[in-house]
Amino acid sequence: MAQTHSRAVIVSIGDELVLGQSLDTNSKWLSERLLDRGAAVIRHVTVADDVEAIASEIGRAAADAELVVATGGLGPTMDDLTRAALARAMGRELVEDAEALAQVRAWFESRGRVMPEPNRVQALRPAGAVCLENTAGTAPGLRGAVGGADVFCLPGPPREMRPMFERFVLPALRPAREVRTRLVRTFGLGESRVAELLGDLMRRDRNPLVGTTASAGVVTVRMRWELDSAEHLHGSPAAKAALDEADRLVRAALGAAVFTPEGGDGEQELATVVLHLLKARRERFAVAESCTGGLIGALVTAVPGSSAAFAGGWITYTNAMKAAEVGVPREMFTEARAGAPGAVSREVARAMAEGALLRAAHELGGTSGVDHALAVTGIAGPEGGSEAKPVGTVWICRASREGSMDCRRFLFGGGRESVREWAAATALGMLRLKLAGEDLKLHSEQERWGE
Ligand code: ATP
Ligand code: MG
Repeated sequence: MAQTHSRAVIVSIGDELVLGQSLDTNSKWLSERLLDRGAAVIRHVTVADDVEAIASEIGRAAADAELVVATGGLGPTMDDLTRAALARAMGRELVEDAEALAQVRAWFESRGRVMPEPNRVQALRPAGAVCLENTAGTAPGLRGAVGGADVFCLPGPPREMRPMFERFVLPALRPAREVRTRLVRTFGLGESRVAELLGDLMRRDRNPLVGTTASAGVVTVRMRWELDSAEHLHGSPAAKAALDEADRLVRAALGAAVFTPEGGDGEQELATVVLHLLKARRERFAVAESCTGGLIGALVTAVPGSSAAFAGGWITYTNAMKAAEVGVPREMFTEARAGAPGAVSREVARAMAEGALLRAAHELGGTSGVDHALAVTGIAGPEGGSEAKPVGTVWICRASREGSMDCRRFLFGGGRESVREWAAATALGMLRLKLAGEDLKLHSEQERWGE
């Protein structure tokens, strides 16, 4: 019987990757999927367009793992050397594959073109290897064997590589273990606080293994259940029970910070959950954004179907726009009078949110108006900070039509990009707390004014 794929190595091929001109996202994507299917990725290798180097990396990978997935270098140009490198690693000659040639030709013909002669090389394969059809581009993939390892070579462009991985690699996988994962996502607690609250749940000897990753305020708790499938068949009911139990304990420990709904896989983004909660209540919201410059709108409109719960908003970056568009009283700005609160203040954040609510109601007319508004005003830096209002100071206000409002001051760290990302996510986090009827002192929160 063929051996199982317990270890995998990913080889990324291309000068542009080793020179830092483009980012290797294929390895990340492939690792996540292989890991979820029970193949442990033990190494990522990135190699230049050099036939010797590629052949020796494929050979080394095949010596250490049962599965090798390589991407890139399958195009028609002189620097596309993966076919020749695989032939060298397999110790075989390149031969022309009639079916692959027909497919490459047909790809061009279906676009009303004649196949250029250089593309003919794409139909070459090492003797003993097979070509894998590419329906999204011209470069066929390859599947061969080096030593005892299965080697898959897929094209570099993610939109070609991903469907081919799913069509050819996944069905061929013989995982050595059974793996099931589930996520619980939180907003508002720092990663170390989450770890502290999870306590013993994160011990490395537990199954499911519980780990965390953090990105702009969202801390994702990943539960990974694993069993050697050689020893145990039909682990699924046990996996479900173990994950359900871990899920319950994680939710109990993290309370109001958890935003992904119970009973799901936990994959949803914060914006998706906020929109879902609003739709369930038949409510909508609007935004008035200063230092986030439209980031909240971008996060929300990235979700399909957002128009049902998101009306739109204003990017009121200057004081003049804050006054003209959402009616912030000019006296609030420092230029207008000494001792005024200034653009980054609770008063201005509140006036922006309430102005947005009012303006949306006015523009959209009575009952078709919005139910909530979020406003953000802050100092993203690197310039513009002061002792009283250092860079990273951001006021966020949520105002709702029934009359409540929640204004909070934050001090975010990490530079301009980070301050803006955190501010946008935190505004959504505040709206979620309101909709879920929960409260929580959020990460980086310094001061509150509200209700
Ligand atoms: P094609 O026939 O499309 O040229 P190919 O297999 O020759 O396919 P490459 O020429 O190596 O692919 O890469 C084409 C493009 O694919 C690169 O310019 C890059 O944008 C993208 N790409 C390649 N490798 C990766 C990678 N590891 N991660 C993300 N993108 C990649
Ligand atoms: Mg290429």
